Amino acid sequence: MNQASLPVAIIGAGPVGLAAAAYLLARGETPLVLEAGPAAGHAIRQWHHVRMFTPWRFCVDRAAAALLATRGWSPPPAEDLPTGGELVARYLEPLAAALAPYLHVNARVIAVSRQNTDKLRTAGRERLPFVLRIAAPDGTTRRVMARAVIDASGTWFTPNPAGADGLPALGERQAAERIASGIPDVLGADREIYRGRKTAVVGSGHSALNALIELAALREEAPGTRLHWLIRKDRIETAFGGEAADALPARGALGIAARALVEAGAVEVLAPFRIEAIGRGAGGALRIEGDHAGAPAQLAADRMIVATGFRPDFTMLREVRLALDPWLECAGSIGPLIDPNLHSCGTVRPHGAAALAHPEADFFIAGMKSYGRAPTFLLATGYEQVRSIAAHLVGDEEAAARVELELPETGVCTARPAPRIAVPSAKSCCGAAKPEPAIAAARADCCG
Ligand SMILES: Cc1cc2nc3c(=O)[nH]c(=O)nc-3n(C[C@H](O)[C@H](O)[C@H](O)COP(=O)(O)OP(=O)(O)OC[C@H]3O[C@@H](n4cnc5c(N)ncnc54)[C@H](O)[C@@H]3O)c2cc1C
Repeated sequence: MNQASLPVAIIGAGPVGLAAAAYLLARGETPLVLEAGPAAGHAIRQWHHVRMFTPWRFCVDRAAAALLATRGWSPPPAEDLPTGGELVARYLEPLAAALAPYLHVNARVIAVSRQNTDKLRTAGRERLPFVLRIAAPDGTTRRVMARAVIDASGTWFTPNPAGADGLPALGERQAAERIASGIPDVLGADREIYRGRKTAVVGSGHSALNALIELAALREEAPGTRLHWLIRKDRIETAFGGEAADALPARGALGIAARALVEAGAVEVLAPFRIEAIGRGAGGALRIEGDHAGAPAQLAADRMIVATGFRPDFTMLREVRLALDPWLECAGSIGPLIDPNLHSCGTVRPHGAAALAHPEADFFIAGMKSYGRAPTFLLATGYEQVRSIAAHLVGDEEAAARVELELPETGVCTARPAPRIAVPSAKSCCGAAKPEPAIAAARADCCG
């Protein structure tokens, strides 16, 4: 088969997958975007009610904007902050329409491999086309061939559990009907679920802060609404983030608002609380059991919101040769750039195809999923990733290596850079391995 005539398959029609398609199209390639959900932006539609902390200018990709401009689209005000729903309606839907000939919805990729071989064989592997197996909602399956694959399938649908061990707490799955993941629509569709009830919010990232702020607003109108905040970390201060020093003011504002709620006593904080089990009490109420500051503890709650982050799902990539960071599960060698053990600030550095490469030639993980379990991904970083990957796939290595992105820095990195244990593809940012340019820059930040 003539590989060159095959499309580049893109898994996921989120903002990064669609941007990848726009870059490939601009370079004369044929993208094939495969989306599991019924429409583009399927994951973001689940958090449509959440206001983003980056303004439009960081949310719109350049190649996508250029494609949209040919259809009379005008960009939203650069400094306004969209909600997830606005991002879909004003940007992703028009972009999906522009890419309609290349976009297949209700097409869940369930496996990726190379034609007529499996993961074991090395000789000539890079010359074999990729085979993607796709499942439709009715369960029927088909396969498509591709000359390269970009996995931009995100992590939204595989949230972390409440259990402190990284495993679901005992009983957590059985209690699922009373547990929400991510950011439920507390002030909208889910209002009656939380109004006048006692909710335990678990987690210390921006999603947890968002949920707390909305629950506190609900408490204003229904004083019976009570909220507890359970975090695994020892000190609540670490959950407030950069606050006023954050270069993204809307992100900093979340920490400022959460601190004010805690200081006003509107939120009862339990830190550290390490959840071990979730049982059911009278009337089906949740009984959250664990260790609170070294002593066994129990907390009763009507509902839980578990906002402990997300993790990537590699099930469909079982036959692909991957380079993954051992603990972040991020792609290629970007671990030292984004490891929260090293960088508490959330500053992210642009990087491209070279740092994202896997042993599998012409295969890339981009977007939210490329960060694995690290919580600091920004759309602008993902757009730079796929710009570089598209350049690499057409052989323009000069453009692939160029960094074309300036990102805001928070300037509040408080983590002491602990040495990373050396792994073959990703050495410590303070280690001795020859670094990629972006990793070298991060090392300079860390190690002076
Ligand atoms: C609540 C929230 C707020 C955020 N706010 C910001 C912000 O303000 N600024 C910012 O820069 N970033 C923000 N982020 C981070 C990040 O930019 C978003 O998560 C963004 O949606 C990531 O884009 P993506 O294209 O990588 O993945 P996603 O948007 O998650 O898209 C992945 C797509 O792949 C599809 N898919 C999944 N599995 C398969 C499969 N097997 N086959 C086919 N399709 C599949 C999904 O249905 C989905 O449509 C936020 C994230 C969250 C959760």
